[in-house]
Amino acid sequence: MAVPRTAIIAGNWKMNYGPKQASSFASEIVPALDGLVRSYARIMCILCPPAISIAAVKDVVDAYVAPRLELGAQNMYFEEKGAFTGEIAPGMVRELCDNVILGHSERRMYFHETDDLVNKKALVAFKHNLRPIVCIGENLDQYESGQTEQVIQEQVKGSLANFSAEQAGQVVIAYEPVWAIGTGKAATVEGAGKVIHRIRELYGEMYGAEAAQALRIQYGGSVTPANISEFMAHPDIDGALVGGASLKPDFVEIVRKTI
Ligand code: PGA
Repeated sequence: MAVPRTAIIAGNWKMNYGPKQASSFASEIVPALDGLVRSYARIMCILCPPAISIAAVKDVVDAYVAPRLELGAQNMYFEEKGAFTGEIAPGMVRELCDNVILGHSERRMYFHETDDLVNKKALVAFKHNLRPIVCIGENLDQYESGQTEQVIQEQVKGSLANFSAEQAGQVVIAYEPVWAIGTGKAATVEGAGKVIHRIRELYGEMYGAEAAQALRIQYGGSVTPANISEFMAHPDIDGALVGGASLKPDFVEIVRKTI
């Protein structure tokens, strides 16, 4: 029988909370998160502050046992070092984090990140022993014109290409329909579950049934304490990537309701 997948609830703080605020917010939520992850082995929790605030949050987290309470960056570059003003190298991320979010729709939209670039970054992340959380999802136009399946297929094939068998078992995918992000209009469980099931099938075609079975796929887009339990009840949904609600103590409630 297949081993059940550990759920991952990740908080994407986006461009919110500099080091001081990040430290005080972390001090507010980490004690409770520590208790939750310690008492429930089937959940992992990842905090993704802005790059400049990661060290401040790590200081707070390090004061606790907090197994499976990890840190993640929201982005990184694929080069190892050098003249790339403003960028952060994978090795630098690795000094503080175990995870990195890649290809978030805001990166794709405002910074023109392509599937090729996201794939390049994912492959470099593996080299540094960072777990990539690769975001995919259709926008409103694509959703309304019935192109979801096609868009998802392109993104899965493009962003998740060329993985070794071992890498294929390590990546996390976050399915985030762009129209549900920050809008308060979450997808329905049925709708998200259907796409996520399809993502798993596509992944299986690329890397085999075993990798597809092990693959963690999160839902993201207006997740709150009120809707998380429904999403978690779907057999294909393995957690959530949370934006707005991860900036409030609501995040603790979301983790609590995942259990
Ligand atoms: P949201 O953002 O929870 O605020 O909708 C999710 C995300 O962008 O990851």
